[in-house]
Amino acid sequence: MAKYDYLIVGSGLFGATFAHIAHKRGKKCLVIEKRYHLGGNIYCEEIKGINVHKYGAHIFHTSDKLIWDFVNSIVPFNRYTNSPVAMAPNGKLYNLPFNMNTFYQMWGVRTPKEAQIKLNEQRQEVLERMRENNIVEPRNLEEQALMLIGKDIYEQLIKDYTEKQWGRPCNQLPAFIIRRLPVRMTYDNNYFNDIYQGIPIGGYNKLTEGLLDGIEVKLNTDFFENRDKWESVADKIIFTGKIDEFYNYCFGKLEYRTVRFQTEVLDEPNFQGNAVVNYTTKQVPFTRIIEHKHFESFGNSVYDNPHTVISREYSTEWMDGMEPFYPVNDTKNQVIYEKYQKLAKEDQNIIFGGRLAEYKYYDMAPIISNVFNLIESLCQNNHKK
Ligand code: FAD
Ligand code: UDP
Repeated sequence: MAKYDYLIVGSGLFGATFAHIAHKRGKKCLVIEKRYHLGGNIYCEEIKGINVHKYGAHIFHTSDKLIWDFVNSIVPFNRYTNSPVAMAPNGKLYNLPFNMNTFYQMWGVRTPKEAQIKLNEQRQEVLERMRENNIVEPRNLEEQALMLIGKDIYEQLIKDYTEKQWGRPCNQLPAFIIRRLPVRMTYDNNYFNDIYQGIPIGGYNKLTEGLLDGIEVKLNTDFFENRDKWESVADKIIFTGKIDEFYNYCFGKLEYRTVRFQTEVLDEPNFQGNAVVNYTTKQVPFTRIIEHKHFESFGNSVYDNPHTVISREYSTEWMDGMEPFYPVNDTKNQVIYEKYQKLAKEDQNIIFGGRLAEYKYYDMAPIISNVFNLIESLCQNNHKK
């Protein structure tokens, strides 16, 4: 008989949440993690008393009360609301996401009616082109962006930023990426439409540590360095690493984008006045600057701290040895992924979950929701047996 009910490969949000719930239900779990720390990409590193989001800015948001209550039962969250600003190719600053503030700054329109007229004008060209070619659905990100928001905003706030972030032309990227951003006819700079939003008070490590409290964890432990051993220690494996690596890249390598962070400590209390400033011009090589202390400015005297920490984010193609961040869900990669997915379905004792194992652009809340669903289906299967 195996020593553990579950071996969980990876201590990111998927692995940690799964381990937490399974442990609470009396299952014996072992988590192995190849990095030197817990939490995967939500890990924070403290620098000068500031929680630095080491793998990029993370803002938790959801409309699902169950998920919100769950994370808050582990650590209370603050009321941070993400409202980035963008420095455009024309040298001006604009509010994001696309809302009445942006439209006023771009065109001087003041009412939703005026903005609607302008937006209709701006969309005209792409709609006519699509009609002439009998295209009903946008075929790529460029068409989708032009349909949603029109030419000026596409050129000032989307095109260069997206091409820097993804390293591919907008007309070769899937349309869904840009549908993540709200378009609003109100003066509301909240980047997300969700009901609940915030940052764990004290940083994301509090969430991970709380989830993994009382669970056996081995850091600096790569599943592939001792695969035979790890495959025999538990009845089931929850695998949250790269699915193509799991199958020895037999159908080829899946592509990812990654980010290089240039993090600096500055001797000033407030560098840019906002957590996120995007640079939507090709003239600047990085995509955005994150100033981490603003994430925790609620109920905290962060501006009394004479230092601040900023990270410039340079988006690049992923190569071996780097952290894979964003799956490139274009057609070529999707075809490869589906072959791996087919193999995975045949593997009875291994469950693939999370951003890397499912090769999907998941936010944190959907990751937790997927774990809830997985646990539910495992319970139902047990009852059937
Ligand atoms: P991961 O965090 O990648 O965890 C996988 C873990 O498995 C890692 O710790 C890894 O080291 C480990 N592992 C992999 N292979 C092995 C192996 N062979 N052996 C042992 N361990 C292994 N979501 C939001 O909701 N809001 C945001 O603002 C937001 N911003 C983001 C910004 C960036 C730059 C990125 C990359 C993501 C962002 N996300 C955001 C998404 C969020 O990070 C993910 O939803 C979440 O972290 C996914 O958790 P995971 O467990 O699937 O993956
Ligand atoms: N985007 C953009 N301009 C911006 C911010 C975002 O064009 O100033 C586009 C870009 O293509 C990005 C997508 O919108 O990939 C989704 O943005 P989001 O902020 O959700 O991306 P994340 O950083 O979370 O991956």
